[in-house]
Amino acid sequence: MNTSQSILVPFSSSSQTAHVYLGIGASLGDRENNLREGLHLLERDANIRVERVSGLYRSPHMGLAPGDKTRFPFHLNAVAEISTTPKPIELLDRLLEAEEESGRVRSEKWGARTLDLDIVLWESLTLSSERLMIPHPGLSRRAFVVVPLLELNPRIAVPNGTRVSDFLGSLEADLRHLTRIRDVEWYTGQKIEAKLSAAE
Ligand code: ADP
Ligand code: MG
Repeated sequence: MNTSQSILVPFSSSSQTAHVYLGIGASLGDRENNLREGLHLLERDANIRVERVSGLYRSPHMGLAPGDKTRFPFHLNAVAEISTTPKPIELLDRLLEAEEESGRVRSEKWGARTLDLDIVLWESLTLSSERLMIPHPGLSRRAFVVVPLLELNPRIAVPNGTRVSDFLGSLEADLRHLTRIRDVEWYTGQKIEAKLSAAE
């Protein structure tokens, strides 16, 4: 028997299972690999299963000022749908751990980072505490979350009933700079394509 398989605990769905959308992003190092590794780290947790992953999107850093281009290189983003049993705050802790494990550099707020994992939506839950807000407060302003989320679920709405697709109207400028650079194979690994240069 393959020993690496024998230590994996299978994920088992229960009535406590929630379907959650995660925003994943990277703007440092081998970004595509960081994102893939981040999801693999989460999947090592027996209480988390990655169900579906969007294509991969590229966008410039938000609010670039002249001369910032080298300080703030481009971002890669995607959205993943997961099944999970932990409570929201426990999942947040797991995400922060995975960010740490993947070597995220937290030198400056809003700075470039190796991995950013956010809880975007958690079914019909709304939560507002010091450490955690659900839906993610940036959702409606972030084309790089809205577009991959709609790719996975075009009719999805936030808990107050507003369709996520309604956010697109105010995101026109950002949408022009958002490029879908990979199909879902970037995660499933069925097709090998040339990698973006990490220095680009
Ligand atoms: P952002 O993800 O908005 O670019 P950071 O990743 O630097 O910013 O923010 C990290 C902090 O945001 C976390 O320590 C966490 O306490 C808080 N936070 C609040 N709501 C969420 C959420 N829905 N998902 C992830 N982090 C959140
Ligand atoms: Mg974050």
